Amino acid sequence: MAKEIRQIAIYGKGGIGKSTTTQNLTAGLAEGGKKIMVVGCDPKADSTRLLLGTLAQRTVLDTLRETGDVATLSGIMREGFGGIKCVESGGPEPGVGCAGRGIITSIGLLEQLGAYTEDLDYVFYDVLGDVVCGGFAMPIREGKAKEIYIVASGEMMALYAANNIAKGIAKFAQKGGVRMGGIICNSRNVDREHELLEAFSEELGTQLIYFVPRNNVVQRAEINRKTVIEYAPQDHQAQEYRALAKVIDQNTHFTIPKPMTQERLEQILLKFGLMDAIEGDYRI
Ligand code: ADP
Ligand code: MG
Repeated sequence: MAKEIRQIAIYGKGGIGKSTTTQNLTAGLAEGGKKIMVVGCDPKADSTRLLLGTLAQRTVLDTLRETGDVATLSGIMREGFGGIKCVESGGPEPGVGCAGRGIITSIGLLEQLGAYTEDLDYVFYDVLGDVVCGGFAMPIREGKAKEIYIVASGEMMALYAANNIAKGIAKFAQKGGVRMGGIICNSRNVDREHELLEAFSEELGTQLIYFVPRNNVVQRAEINRKTVIEYAPQDHQAQEYRALAKVIDQNTHFTIPKPMTQERLEQILLKFGLMDAIEGDYRI
């Protein structure tokens, strides 16, 4: 019997580090011999730049707009680092139409053109969004991605977005088979961030699967259009991404998340953040 492709969606608020983390993680998996496709589901179309080493890639929607059709996979898919297949769905022209439509169109086309080949171990969807709605829910709504990770940090807005995303996942999980695999903390060097993310993940009914440290080598690699794995393979940060790849590859903890109320979220934030600061201020 053909093995199942693990289809994984990475969600999280804009700028939190979804694309960076996804590309470094998939580069780590590719080093370990895994066959992977990465589908960028962000109108910014920068989900595969570090894997391809180039800025401009024709997106699925660009190609459709220019030629009216996408006849072959080679027009929209390119191989990057470690043989990773890269696709960008792209978006509508700014201010026109729903950005989520691009994702629906792209996944449909990829299926039609036979992109989901049996040799693939993983497909990753790098999805923009603070909430899971409309087209952005597409990878999980249609049962494509069964496994979700949310990238977050100890900053309030990142956790607020993560909780909102979990609400969407919980809704689709009731009907389909989608499950949450964990929270990936992409550190912003917030005080007690690790403990805060542990507590937040537990409250959400999931796990903190990995804590990725903040490190300037990520930006140096980015300027050179490379993942850290490619740019600085010996660096400690590259080891962190390899470790992240390993825990995801071995993950067996899949749950339906239990989103929390705004009050509860604020309580947790207070416990690990503000309250500590206040106590600290008054400590004798
Ligand atoms: P998103 O895809 O969620 O919008 P990006 O992956 O584009 O976010 O990341 C935003 C910025 O944060 C990028 O400039 C990236 O280099 C930087 N960044 C991401 N993760 C780290 C990290 N662990 N350490 C340092 N910088 C990071
Ligand atoms: Mg991105």
